[in-house]
Amino acid sequence: MVKTMLNINYLVNDHQDTLQLPEKLEFGKIFTDHLFEMNYDEENGWSNPTIKSFDTLSMSPATMVFHYGQAVFEGLKAYKTPSGRIAIFRPDRHFQRLNNSARRLCIPELDADFAIEALKELIKVDREWVPEKKGNALYIRPFIYGSDPVLGVKPSKSYKFLIILSPVGAYYPEGFKPVKILAQDDYVRAVRKGLGDCKTPANYAASLLATQEAQKKGFTQVLWMDGIEQKYIEEVGTMNIFVRFKNEIATPMLTGSILPGVTRATVLELLRKKGETVNERLISMEEIISEYEKGNLLSIFGTGTAAVISSVGLLKYKDKEMIFNNGESGQFELDLFNEITSIQYGFKPDENGWLQYID
Ligand SMILES: *Cc1c(COP(=O)(O)O)cnc(C)c1O
Repeated sequence: MVKTMLNINYLVNDHQDTLQLPEKLEFGKIFTDHLFEMNYDEENGWSNPTIKSFDTLSMSPATMVFHYGQAVFEGLKAYKTPSGRIAIFRPDRHFQRLNNSARRLCIPELDADFAIEALKELIKVDREWVPEKKGNALYIRPFIYGSDPVLGVKPSKSYKFLIILSPVGAYYPEGFKPVKILAQDDYVRAVRKGLGDCKTPANYAASLLATQEAQKKGFTQVLWMDGIEQKYIEEVGTMNIFVRFKNEIATPMLTGSILPGVTRATVLELLRKKGETVNERLISMEEIISEYEKGNLLSIFGTGTAAVISSVGLLKYKDKEMIFNNGESGQFELDLFNEITSIQYGFKPDENGWLQYID
């Protein structure tokens, strides 16, 4: 059905027949031959879905998104499984979240099922670009932006929805590595009732300076505290965060300023299935420090599509440094990483129906 509605606007043979991906695939630097595009206007709604050659966009300097940031995006991955079939991890969740983000930014929602089918058609066209090696993957970036070529703060009347694809290398090319994080109370990423639970460019713009300063001090990522009192932990970089106490695994509850990660949901489902005690609740820095000092804090880890699981070796807050697993990666984190990636790459049965195959 989708196929008959799609405009196929490229030469069948414009992909390289003997595509050789570089040995080292840096994140987000190279893109496949094609993209998917669909436009919105008031008269036609979302219309004219097209797969075409990857090319530059030509835009008026007055295009709304440049000035007022009306845009939303997603990030998900497709994997080549041992049978050679290509699987996308939880696309339904990602497109549902894209629509949630869109609603908050006055962007018209998409038909999520149609968008997923279009994505599958796009990946079929560029299937040669899906890397073979375990650890490598095809990163998928869907995004929507306000495209009216006019100034003035109001919702755009026209929009563009695009999907671009980028083959990416393993997040841990030299093995599972721990991160050093700096809890940040000089800056906040987001506040409750703001945009924190949306994947929208504004949140990333807000995070750059704090991240840059933390990296200058030798940290990998910033641990964001809540935007009101800077008392509760919220997220780490562009990952959700989990804290393993002796008797409980906790993750910050979704208060509105936290991005509801698909990996976060995946980890919660897996841990609950194993019978672990898992809670979504407020976690204060004070609690982290006092439990650490009592020896009740076993480890901390981040979750997100890019890294899947990221083990925290060091956490610094003001003058307090907390070291976990002797600064190395934790076994618990490594096991969780292996479990999730084995499902994603089709090495373990997909008991929860998280994978959608492209054909
Ligand atoms: C994307 C993102 C996450 C992780 O979400 P996943 O769906 O697991 O990739 C967490 N925090 C922020 C701020 C993000 O942008």
